[in-house]
Amino acid sequence: MIIGERLTCYIDSLDRGNTPFLDEIEKYALAHQIPVVRKSMQSLLKFLLAARNPERILEIGTAIGFSALLMCEYGPENSRITTIEKDGNRIALARENFRRAGKEAKITLLEGDAAEILQNLEGPYPMIFMDAAKGQYIHFLPDILRLMGPGSLLVSDNVLKDGDVIQSRFAVTRRNRTIHARMREYLYELKHRPQLETVVLPVGDGAALSVMRDCAVDLCCNAGQREEPSC
Ligand code: SAM
Repeated sequence: MIIGERLTCYIDSLDRGNTPFLDEIEKYALAHQIPVVRKSMQSLLKFLLAARNPERILEIGTAIGFSALLMCEYGPENSRITTIEKDGNRIALARENFRRAGKEAKITLLEGDAAEILQNLEGPYPMIFMDAAKGQYIHFLPDILRLMGPGSLLVSDNVLKDGDVIQSRFAVTRRNRTIHARMREYLYELKHRPQLETVVLPVGDGAALSVMRDCAVDLCCNAGQREEPSC
């Protein structure tokens, strides 16, 4: 927990809550050690959905469909969600949850490794929610950038790993050392790519919000300062 348990509990307690069906799936996931977005991230997602009204949403990391259903429930009426998952058991549960929620027509579940599936998708997606294996975000980034258009929003979850990304390399296991190094590289890229504007927030497990700049605006703002547009 990045900002302290008491403050997190207080902020979470202010939330209006979700639908009973979402509560049921969340309860099931937590009881079976299946990862789902934390309350504070749920709240951030709902806020972004209300602010941006994205009609097409891409999610990487479905698990059993909790966040896809949350985005479906709190996104615009006409939204369509494409979500990617590679774990067979979770895919079966997600499909069942989409069916029970009556959202099969709105949510497309693509089965397999996102590294391959992303290559065959066509953008732009106004909103992309990255919530898969943390060490792979950096490998997905070239495809993610291709799938974004001007104004597209990329939401990356778990980017601070409960604050562990800044732990000394000697204080973490070899596996986590690699994951943390890749995550730091990912955050560096998000902050330094000229076509992105990114803010890293200590929300939940750490969230990065990146927006794809509009080239025309970028050019206009920098008129006279450089010769070539960088995006
Ligand atoms: N977004 C979900 C939610 O809040 O309900 C939780 C997703 S969970 C944190 C991450 C999921 O990503 C896992 O179910 C895992 O199997 C899946 N995953 C990890 N790496 C993946 C990959 N390369 N391709 C597809 N799915 C992947």
